[in-house]
Amino acid sequence: MLFHGVGGSTVLFSAHWMRFLPSDFRVKTLDGVADDWPIDYAELAPFYDRIDGQFGVSGIAGDPAYPDRPEYPMPPLPIGDWGKRVAAAHAKMGWHWWPGSNAINSRDYGGRRQCVQRSTCRAGCNEGAKGSVDRTHWPESERHGVRLITDAQVSRITLDEKGRANGALYRDGPGPEKHIKADVVILAAHAIGTPRLLLLSAAKGHGNGLANRSGLVGRRLMMHPLSRTIGLFEEPMMSWQGHWGQSLYCLQFAETDVSRGFVRGAKWNLSPSGGPLMAALYPWPGERLWGAAMHEHVNAWLGRAAIWGVTAEDLPEVENRVDLDPELCDRYGDPAPRLHYTLSQNSRDMLAFMNQRVEESFRAAGAYRTLLRPLVAEAGWHALGTCRMGDDPETSVVDRWQRCHDIPNLLILDGSAFVTCSSVNPSATISALALRAADHLVNHRRDVAR
Ligand code: SF4
Repeated sequence: MLFHGVGGSTVLFSAHWMRFLPSDFRVKTLDGVADDWPIDYAELAPFYDRIDGQFGVSGIAGDPAYPDRPEYPMPPLPIGDWGKRVAAAHAKMGWHWWPGSNAINSRDYGGRRQCVQRSTCRAGCNEGAKGSVDRTHWPESERHGVRLITDAQVSRITLDEKGRANGALYRDGPGPEKHIKADVVILAAHAIGTPRLLLLSAAKGHGNGLANRSGLVGRRLMMHPLSRTIGLFEEPMMSWQGHWGQSLYCLQFAETDVSRGFVRGAKWNLSPSGGPLMAALYPWPGERLWGAAMHEHVNAWLGRAAIWGVTAEDLPEVENRVDLDPELCDRYGDPAPRLHYTLSQNSRDMLAFMNQRVEESFRAAGAYRTLLRPLVAEAGWHALGTCRMGDDPETSVVDRWQRCHDIPNLLILDGSAFVTCSSVNPSATISALALRAADHLVNHRRDVAR
């Protein structure tokens, strides 16, 4: 889901729009693991409020799992029959649930149309209802004079003789490399692309890669381990329709309860099950989907299934990391990124616990059968944490304003800066942090650019 194109990965994202929980910023203090952020929820809240308006978020305020917040720009999207069944079951069990908050238009908003509920969000929204950056920010930015260079691939950040960032080398087709000059350089290349570029840009005084005094560039990679359970119901629910997107979410098990045998927790999101192609992607274990078996399978699935996705909070571990591949190269001959990642015992235990609870949720809602994918292998699109934020230049890469400690006119405005990864989807926090850092940059531009 690392999408290279105008709008980046938001073109393909599911648009779940979740704020971090207040505890997510204080993991060390509360749970004795990982680290605290140098900022807290209250400091970020006004930027969450503003960014909701820019992306166009639908939802309903008042979730008791969160501090008070203003009403969303739009009312929530429909939760569907599958959502009503699960919500009723959770209400009976005393478990948390809340209508999904999504960066998806529930009415015409921001010059974009209302969602038509056809469930193809992860292939790009052809209605323009989903808040992807090619729709929400680029047109406005270009109207304000920003020049967008497409098909461009940056190979190095460059420094001047004083060691300050002064631009980037890039190619946008055949021919020699070009240099673009800048007073301030902002990196937003995802938690894999950003450390790769810093490591590729090793220069005099930065032999270990740019901004890497701490040795943490590329380290502490977190991935949000993900499981999915499909619940099958006898009754038709029209679940081939809907947004994906979350119909509703559950934070019942998001906070630490040490009696469970692990720290931190997971966020669940309920989605409709999509059309026949989605059904074909999910054979039952040992089932060969061909001929009559395929028809039977699709019949059972189509309109009668829902999906719980579970995103588990990963803890930052220095050995989980991105570095440069010694052999594999990109089309221009530069080393590709290489990932080293081992799922921790804490994350394994957490997923095992969650998967049992999800089964209970679906059974309570009336599902007659469930199918568990205990760890979705092709997930990992929430890569985070590889250039962590902090106050101490010896133990972090960027400061609280996301300026590199070693090169203050080089900013990192993506999920690389995360100290911990929460259990919730990261896009709202990446964006709110970027807005906060951009505000600071504008207000202090004379100091930063000098
Ligand atoms: S369901 Fe998804 S793809 Fe379809 S209009 Fe709504 S947001 Fe767009």
